[in-house]
Amino acid sequence: MTIDRNIDLAPYTTFGMHAAAEHVVVVTTLDELRQALAWAHEQALPWRILGGGSNVLLTGDVSGLVIVMRIAGRDVTIDGDDVLITCGAGEVWHDIVTWTVEQGWSGLENMALIPGTIGAAPMQNIGAYGVEQASCFVSCDVLDVTTGTVTTFDRDACAFGYRESVFKHALRDTAIIVSVTYRVHQTARLVTSYRDVADELHARGVQVPTPRDVFDAVVAIRKRKLPDPAEIGNAGSFFKNPVVPRATYDTLATSYQDAPHYVQADGSIKLPAAWLIDTCGWKGYRSGDAGVHARQALVLVNYGSARGAEILDIAQRIQSDVRERFGVELEREVNVW
Ligand code: FAD
Ligand code: NAP
Repeated sequence: MTIDRNIDLAPYTTFGMHAAAEHVVVVTTLDELRQALAWAHEQALPWRILGGGSNVLLTGDVSGLVIVMRIAGRDVTIDGDDVLITCGAGEVWHDIVTWTVEQGWSGLENMALIPGTIGAAPMQNIGAYGVEQASCFVSCDVLDVTTGTVTTFDRDACAFGYRESVFKHALRDTAIIVSVTYRVHQTARLVTSYRDVADELHARGVQVPTPRDVFDAVVAIRKRKLPDPAEIGNAGSFFKNPVVPRATYDTLATSYQDAPHYVQADGSIKLPAAWLIDTCGWKGYRSGDAGVHARQALVLVNYGSARGAEILDIAQRIQSDVRERFGVELEREVNVW
């Protein structure tokens, strides 16, 4: 394990901003993680954990120690139709999804091509195309940085919500996820109701889909609709889709009858943030190298040399416009460092 000094973090995040980390260490085992934390403690330095850097915006140099999570490992237990897979936190999410689909197992296929690591997936309860990781989640092993002990968290302990978990709030900066166990199935249990997925399967002439068909459909849709961070720096959706009380939606709908909306199980209404932002005229906006993607208004982009502060400034102006026009608060999904 080597601790490097003064490292440019541009290659470590999908936004690609240049910012220097005072120290960086890549950890591949739980022991190395413990050693890295002990070192930071001895030096009285703050630390941060970084997975694939696909949900982080750097707004300046980072003091202390950046710990890059690369703990690998895959264990499988088969119990009838259930397949329990336990993966190291540093495994790449999409590689695990691909691997399960190659085995013919079902459960993760709708979440193909989400960037990042396994360990970050419970953090914001990642999800796409009608499925979130909580639906397959069994447990995760978590290092409590204050005590040094590893504890197993079940679903209830993680308090998952829409792009939410206990790790994002109460346990931020004290808990590090070191492995996650998911339950997938040998028989297909597919979710194909999401419109884009249904349309894509239809266009491909698939009548009785397999997990592989859904995986292929999702990969094709995402490649078509979303900017590839390898080409344009971004961190996916910059804001969460706001879930508002029915009364807020009713007020909004008096002026915007065509506002897309999705009624939630508890009667509240989810509004697509992209529509709110687009309606305020932000889609395709560009100032220098910072902007709003031309095809997806929810994705803020770095065309090359944008600084984090410039992206944050656009984000704040968008939040202000949406608040003023719709009376709706947009909450950031991306973690700002
Ligand atoms: P990072 O960006 O490295 O970290 C994110 C946060 O989690 C940080 O606060 C970090 O400190 C913390 N963290 C990281 N690892 C750990 C750990 N082991 N233990 C505790 N905390 C940790 N998200 C979705 O939900 N659905 C999507 O469909 C989706 N699509 C995307 C598409 C694109 C093009 C991009 C760029 C992003 C997309 N995202 C999506 C967001 C992102 O991919 C997810 O949030 C992903 O889980 C982040 O993983 P990461 O390893 O890159 O985390
Ligand atoms: P989209 O299909 O254009 O839909 C816009 C938003 O409306 C989505 O975010 C989705 O919320 C909501 N929605 C659409 N159909 C729905 C339905 N049948 N039921 C409930 N809600 C519905 O979205 P998109 O931008 O192309 O993204 C497709 C999927 O990938 C979405 O699930 C999105 O969350 C996910 N994605 C996430 C990120 C990220 O960084 N977080 C980035 C890219 C894509 P939900 O978000 O709840 O699905």
